[in-house]
This record gives sequence, C-alpha cells and structure tokens, in this order.
Amino acid sequence: MYKLSNINTVKSLMQKYNMTFSKSLGQNFLINPSVCPRMALNTITKPDACVLEIGPGIGVLTQELAKLAGKVVAVEYDKRLLPLLSETLADFDNVSVINNDILKLDLRKVANDYFNGQNFSVCANLPYYISSSIIMKLLEDKLPIDCITIMLQKEMAQRICAKPGTRAVGAISLCISYYAEPELLFNVSKGSFMPAPKVDSSVIKLNVRKKPLYNVLSEKTLFKIIELCFANRRKMISNNLSSGLNIPKAKVEDVLKNNCSVMPDMRAEQLSLEQFVHISNVFFEVMKNGKEKIEGN
Ligand code: SAM
Repeated sequence: MYKLSNINTVKSLMQKYNMTFSKSLGQNFLINPSVCPRMALNTITKPDACVLEIGPGIGVLTQELAKLAGKVVAVEYDKRLLPLLSETLADFDNVSVINNDILKLDLRKVANDYFNGQNFSVCANLPYYISSSIIMKLLEDKLPIDCITIMLQKEMAQRICAKPGTRAVGAISLCISYYAEPELLFNVSKGSFMPAPKVDSSVIKLNVRKKPLYNVLSEKTLFKIIELCFANRRKMISNNLSSGLNIPKAKVEDVLKNNCSVMPDMRAEQLSLEQFVHISNVFFEVMKNGKEKIEGN
C-alpha cells in the first residue's frame, strides 16, 4: 500500500499522472502522517460504518477511512485524479469514487445506492471557500448523517465552535448549532500540507442532532433573521431588522420588547439561539399577518 503522507510519494505520483496542484480547487494535500488516522478515528465510531468523503485528492485520508469503515464513498470533482485514485486505492474493495461536484450531487440518492439508506458519517479536508456552503447543504437537506468531521481554516473552526454570548460567535455558529453540536478536535499547522497554505487549520466534529434543537415555524425565516442581525454586528438588532425586513423601526422595537422579551438595543452576539428562534417565530407570524414579507416566504 502507498504511504501517501510522504512528500516524495506525492511528487512521484503527481509526475506519473502529469498532474499539477489546482489552486482553484484548493488542492493542498495532507503530508503529516498523524492527521488522517486521527480524523478517521473520530469519524468512525462503529464497525461497518458508512462514510462519505468529500475531496479525496490522492487518497491519503481515504485509505485511513477504508481501513476502519464498512463502506467509503469518495466524491472528487477533479477528473484528472481518477486514474491516480484507482492506483492508490487498489488494495481496498470497500471504496467507490464518484466524479462530481459535491454541491450538485443528489446525496440522498448516493446514500440509498451505496449505503442502503443507512446512517452515514462525513469526513473531509475541503477547499475553505466552499466549506460553509457544503456544511449547510449537508445539514439543511436533513440527510441521515451521524457526524461530520471536517478540516477548516482555524478562524472559521473557532467561529463555528464559539459559544453564544462570546465575541467569536457569528451567524454560521448559530445556524450550525441549530442542527448539530460542534466540537473542536485539534489544530493542524500549515506545514502539514503540500503545497503549504497561508493559514493554519483545525479539525472539528459536528455531532448531528437527531432532530433540531427547537421548534421553528420557518427555518428560512430563522436563518434570514440570524444573518440580518449579524450583517452589521456592531449595530443594534432593531436597526438591522428594520432595514433588512423593511419594517418601521418603531414597530420592530415594539415587537422585540413586548412579544419577544428582548431589548431592541441588544447586539446579535449577545443573543442565544433560543432567543433567535423566539424572535423568528414571532416575526414570521407578524409578517404573515401584515404586508411585510421575508424574501422567499
Ligand atoms: N483529502 C485530500 C487530502 O487531505 O490530502 C485532498 C484535500 S484538498 C484540500 C481538497 C480536495 O477537494 C481536492 O482533491 C479537490 O480537487 C477536491 N474538491 C474541490 N472542490 C470540490 C467539489 N466541489 N466537490 C468535490 N471535490 C472537490
């Protein structure tokens, strides 16, 4: 079996297949031998587990997942990597590679076709610019996912795992915590990749809740309201909601104070997810009954 965390092996495979690292696809491959086994161990918590890997690259993480899992499906966008992956994964009969863009793939169909509809886990070291869209797609589609172990830019990982009421918290932290419990696992230095990126990374695990934490009348409204309140995080939530929802400020202040028990001069980072859920449920009703509309509702 290839030792894919070795720089010389990576170089010779890239040469053999006439490959160059694609910057636009975020191709920074892991060469630190301790990272992939740790990611795999955190992803696979039961024998015969089903795992979806996003962006296998040359297969360094795929190999570690395949050693522990019952079935691994790896989705790689770059078709140049397919012949290379056939060679590096030849020792494993429990791996299937799909050549597609993860954002365009029907993952429910993949789960049915490859995992017989069983729950699965996700593991990925992804280009950072698409990680939040991918995480939200996986969670919003309500797929049968147990956990998502993912490598992210360090600042983004800290933001996702930040506790409400702290300065590090952002819209993404609250949206994700509605669906999953985030856990910061470990940090990974720039030098662990080839080529080395400009930023440090961290691996986090999202333990997906069996059902969302609160009863929400409209998830679209909840996420819109969270996004609006954080759009200008230094502003009072009443200002952000008034301009974002196109509702007079006096009315927003009245609803916040009297229907939501929230002071209108609070800032987004001071509110808990529970308070956002309450605000969104109240505003959903207000807008249903009035002429104000949230985009999409
Ligand atoms: N897993 C490998 C590792 O850790 O060394 C490769 C990680 S590299 C940071 C990201 C991988 O994701 C690349 O192989 C890239 O081609 C692939 N990728 C980028 N965008 C993708 C997309 N939209 N769908 C599927 N794969 C994608």
